[in-house]
Amino acid sequence: MKIIFLGSPGAGKGTYSTRIARLLDVPHVSTGELFREAIKKDSDFGNQVNEYVRKGRLVPDDITIITLKKRIDEPDCQNGFILDGYPRTIPQAQALDEVVKIDVVLNLKIHEIILIRKLSARRICDKCGEIYNIIDIEETLDGMDYNMPAMHPKTPGICDKCGGTLIQRKDDRVEVIETRLKQYHQQSEPLVRYYQSRGLVEDVYVNLGIDRTISRIMKKLKPQTVIK
Ligand code: AMP
Repeated sequence: MKIIFLGSPGAGKGTYSTRIARLLDVPHVSTGELFREAIKKDSDFGNQVNEYVRKGRLVPDDITIITLKKRIDEPDCQNGFILDGYPRTIPQAQALDEVVKIDVVLNLKIHEIILIRKLSARRICDKCGEIYNIIDIEETLDGMDYNMPAMHPKTPGICDKCGGTLIQRKDDRVEVIETRLKQYHQQSEPLVRYYQSRGLVEDVYVNLGIDRTISRIMKKLKPQTVIK
């Protein structure tokens, strides 16, 4: 099954797409993660994309499309995959349409005030990329109850999965978050309409804890999926 996760930065695309990929036993493909890996390696390519990533700006389409196509061409992606953070522009979506048929697009929805708070409190493992969040959110906004417990590691600052160090992504600082949100509205929101016109979009409201949101998502995916 080929699934795209859409939604603004901070809506939980990384968290939910990773967990759903594990449940469905398909690779989780994140262009942001591919870029961060390249940046860590300090290659020419890494340095080139770092100019964009550290400022919260989109990496140009030609570079991003090649990176993504190369990844989904690998053998583990042939039976399906979950895309997280791609596409972010209409040309990226069109390039994807040329090579695969997407089954469903999950559109994560969350209030902007909540997502700014969540993003500023996000921590990721510098080794394996596992995501944590250090604030509890419990409030009502525009008639929607938000009840989102923190996702603390067992030992503060240390990843439960691999023992790596938890860090704040440079682009999760408030001033960079604003740029990322502006870009999302300008360039990525039209994607929801692009996929809506193909009848592929399922909206998922993210206002509860992880387990309840995961079961919401799984209900949307049935009966199209088989859990391995
Ligand atoms: P993410 O981990 O998805 O939030 O991505 C982190 C950063 O990587 C973004 O702020 C962009 O600079 C870059 N990036 C990731 N995916 C894309 C994409 N599909 N198109 C352009 N830039 C991207």
